[in-house]
Amino acid sequence: AAAAISRFYSADASPDSQPVVGPAEKHEFKAETKKLLHIVAHSLYSQREVFVRELISNASDALEKLRQLQTTSAKAGSDKPLEINITLDPEHKTITFLDSGIGMTADELKENLGTIARSGSKAFIEKMQSSAETSNAANSIVGQFGVGFYSAFMVGDKITVYTRSAKSGSEGYCWVSDGLGAYTLPKADNVAVGTKIVISVKEDAKEFLDKEKLSEIIKKYSNFVGFPITVDGDKV
Ligand code: ADP
Ligand code: MG
Repeated sequence: AAAAISRFYSADASPDSQPVVGPAEKHEFKAETKKLLHIVAHSLYSQREVFVRELISNASDALEKLRQLQTTSAKAGSDKPLEINITLDPEHKTITFLDSGIGMTADELKENLGTIARSGSKAFIEKMQSSAETSNAANSIVGQFGVGFYSAFMVGDKITVYTRSAKSGSEGYCWVSDGLGAYTLPKADNVAVGTKIVISVKEDAKEFLDKEKLSEIIKKYSNFVGFPITVDGDKV
């Protein structure tokens, strides 16, 4: 048991840290979410790099929310620096986005990652329905609206989200989906406050596992992010 415990997930982004997760129950995505995921996974090739912008912007929002909370409740969250750490593991073909932000409760995970709550995604679906649903239309629309978190499925065939809310007493969860029809949401032990998103990179998206390439994309999209960003420990 001691060996297993030492391999629990911890806040460092070490790629071999193994979370211990509880029993998993399947949750189906809503029909419109499935539709959006299908479009995202199959037709948006020329815009794939925007997943970096979307995940960094979400991490930045989460850090800002924690900073706000800390102004009224000093103990909220952790004493960790407010940062975004990205790590690449070419051997296991994963890209990991770690933030020490506000995190999500189980209800927030279901609401935020299981449904299309955001207005950008709704606009996207509406535009897609009124256009011919060609990949050209999809490409120009995703450029305009973005598709938020789901853009990770442009480059990943499995996304794993470890998260724990900064709200006191919150437990850790591990959201996993292949972006097809469903996700699981088991409890997970030893998850740090914040969010860690692990993208299992598709065979045809391995270019994004290159540190130099990823750093260039980050520079392009994250000019206005007010928190430090590192890639494999190096500040971008
Ligand atoms: P938007 O950012 O426009 O709301 P997204 O699809 O990008 O839409 O994200 C949906 C929601 O998921 C966010 O509003 C936020 O509540 C939650 N979320 C996503 N990423 C994170 C994160 N790293 N930390 C905390 N919450 C997150
Ligand atoms: Mg977003």
